[in-house]
Amino acid sequence: MRTLSSFVAISAAAVPAVAQTLQSMAPSVRQYLSVDRPVFALRNVQVIDGTGAAPRADQTIIVSAGTISWVGPASAARIPTEAQVIDLPGHTVIPGLVGLHNHTFYYTAAPRAAQSNFTAPRLYLGAGVTTIRSTGSGSPYAELNLKANIERGEIPGPRVFVTGPYLIGPGPDMRLDYLGMHELKSPEAARKVVDYWAEEGATWLKVYTQIDRATLAAITDQAHKRGLKVTGHLCSIGYREAVALGIDALEHGLLSNSEYLADKKPDVCPGGYRDAIASRDIATDPDVRATLNAMLDKKVAMTSTLAVYEASTPGRPWGTDSRLWEVLSADARAEEEERHRQVETTAATSSMPRALKKSMEFEAMFFRAGGLLAAGVDPAWSTPAGIGDHRNFEMLVEAGLTPAEAIQVMSLNGARVLGIDRRLGSIEAGKTADLVVIRGDPAARAADIRQVVTVFRDGIGYDSAKLFASAKGLVGIR
Ligand SMILES: [Zn+2]
Repeated sequence: MRTLSSFVAISAAAVPAVAQTLQSMAPSVRQYLSVDRPVFALRNVQVIDGTGAAPRADQTIIVSAGTISWVGPASAARIPTEAQVIDLPGHTVIPGLVGLHNHTFYYTAAPRAAQSNFTAPRLYLGAGVTTIRSTGSGSPYAELNLKANIERGEIPGPRVFVTGPYLIGPGPDMRLDYLGMHELKSPEAARKVVDYWAEEGATWLKVYTQIDRATLAAITDQAHKRGLKVTGHLCSIGYREAVALGIDALEHGLLSNSEYLADKKPDVCPGGYRDAIASRDIATDPDVRATLNAMLDKKVAMTSTLAVYEASTPGRPWGTDSRLWEVLSADARAEEEERHRQVETTAATSSMPRALKKSMEFEAMFFRAGGLLAAGVDPAWSTPAGIGDHRNFEMLVEAGLTPAEAIQVMSLNGARVLGIDRRLGSIEAGKTADLVVIRGDPAARAADIRQVVTVFRDGIGYDSAKLFASAKGLVGIR
């Protein structure tokens, strides 16, 4: 029987956060605005619309009251007389990005965890990530309050889809302490926890590494009854098992799939499973094909988080984005330099160079086969909020997607996973005006995506540089 509360939960899950309006914005948010006119036109820009279509040159986008009212060739545009006209030759406009593994905390092996309610929303928004799913909350109430304050116009930031706390089975893990993970002792306990966070406002749940099949089955069943969805960073359960148990999405590309290890025991998180991924020939391996087909068959989405894995892969580019060094606190900077030094000492033995390459191959194959591939940053010192999302774009292009397809993964596909794609995720007339103005051409030079100038959320324009400046030296502290 459907109770009133379960109906409410389903409605809450399906509807994106309320649109922001100027009237509701506090001075603490208004100080970051650069475009606050209700009607404006972005003229003479290249548009990458988020659908995967090739970039279109010399376009104009007209926005009225938070909605895209028209987009097409600049020569055909009929710009309303009351519009503010912003001429943007040499610029590219993409949809607001949808980040699906975008935490509001940092965790390091030190171990330490830092909730980042000040810097994360500013950096996400400043980088053009206008919607996030947190995908594992270190502090769910801190995140729910952050979401509420953003929606009230007290803090600049993206729309937030809050996940409950990490759900994990019994066993030792320092993250139980530092990230307040919820240790589930039984399937019955899991159902109660799902109910609790459904009432509190979570719309997704995240299971983490060590969890048994009976508990995952209880979580997916209870979550679906409440209109919530479940994703996982798995280990004790293989991808095909999780798909059969009703999971909605899988995190980290192929890199948390333990099912290729020869002596994998049920419900046990094994060591060395990444070596097993590294040893497979992605294009031809029948087991890999079976994983792919199971995901396609059940329409299970996958989140790419390539940038954060690159950071633990010796021999890869590191620290090339100067913004990283500007936003990190002195402590975080020192920790990151030491961490990177340690990674490079593993160059002779690490399976990560091959495993990373295999995951890139699998992600491209999944996308080409029609799989719902999205992306998220999984922030770390090496890949801070927003900055790491940009690195993901560069790596998706390296993986073989066209720049327009990589943008689609990071915008429309993310919106599809969240069920908000009728309103968000692409640049089309009638959709909400979440738009990112970039200086240069990320279709020609992927790294140009770092040159964000203005970010529109609900048709209100934020000065990216101001948002970044407000976070200077504070990542790791606030
Ligand atoms: Zn994560």
